[in-house]
Amino acid sequence: ARQFTRPLNDLSNQFNTLLSAVAGADRVFDILDEQKEDFDEGDARDLPNIRGEVQFCNVSFSYEKGGDTVQSLHFHAAPGEKIALVGPTGAGKSTIINLLSRFYEPVDGSILIDGQDAREIRRESLRKQMGFVLQDSFLFQGTIRENIRYGKLGASDEEVRQAAEDANAHSFITRLPGGYDTVLAPDGAGISQGQKQLLSIARAILASPSILILDEATSSIDTITELKIQEALARLMEGRTTFMIAHRLNTVRRADNILVIEKGRIIESGTHDELLREKGFYFGLYQNQFKKASFQALK
Ligand code: ATP
Repeated sequence: ARQFTRPLNDLSNQFNTLLSAVAGADRVFDILDEQKEDFDEGDARDLPNIRGEVQFCNVSFSYEKGGDTVQSLHFHAAPGEKIALVGPTGAGKSTIINLLSRFYEPVDGSILIDGQDAREIRRESLRKQMGFVLQDSFLFQGTIRENIRYGKLGASDEEVRQAAEDANAHSFITRLPGGYDTVLAPDGAGISQGQKQLLSIARAILASPSILILDEATSSIDTITELKIQEALARLMEGRTTFMIAHRLNTVRRADNILVIEKGRIIESGTHDELLREKGFYFGLYQNQFKKASFQALK
């Protein structure tokens, strides 16, 4: 049952550490920028308007020397496509996201964004066009407005409100005594897990990224909030290349391409129907995991 429960450890830890260490969003960007500058290739450049095409060309990577966390990953995502990553715990799903977000670099092979080697793109320029909706929403101690605005610094109050509406968050926000000026506790205490998700969706909508990373929540969220989240996510994902570590059958079913990862390799890929027909690993997952999880979600 713990098969799908670990979040994008590295990614969310990095953001959480940064966000809990500082108060204002502008500072966070400063710190991220400083870190990134060190790593970019000397001739790396900005790529401000990507369409969101992603290619992994025989990418291999290991956290430790000589290991093989992921091996010869090869796939293509056209702009706007929805890619679901599924597979057992430790298979390498988060690692793929860590590589795409460039918290780590491939040991072998390359990642192309709109046909450009990712190494030639400045990290800041790339990450500005990536949106993250993770299980542990990285909220910081500040007002709800500031937390949403973090998606696009300099956004007007009206833009923030519009993003919150599109994310189905506006109504719960306006019911809070402080409304948009409600100050969140450091760990987001005082609002529910589902509401945190809605805020992080609002932030991503405001950021309007070309590439979206979605780590679907596994914790039980009440049915009404869950429906709001699904609807908001559908709006957010529209027209954006989306990589999702998916835990719900309904999410996986809608993917244009499902990559089944086991022991760092893509062992099967295709749509839900194609993979069921293959009666391979995915079929087994479907029987054992997704069906049960979906039933539980309906309870
Ligand atoms: P889960 O579904 O449990 O989140 P996953 O498919 O996302 O799993 P990864 O987190 O990518 O799997 O892990 C792949 C392998 O790499 C695992 O063996 C894991 O222990 C290891 N690993 C992950 N992060 C690190 C790290 N920062 N340093 C060393 N090893 C790591």
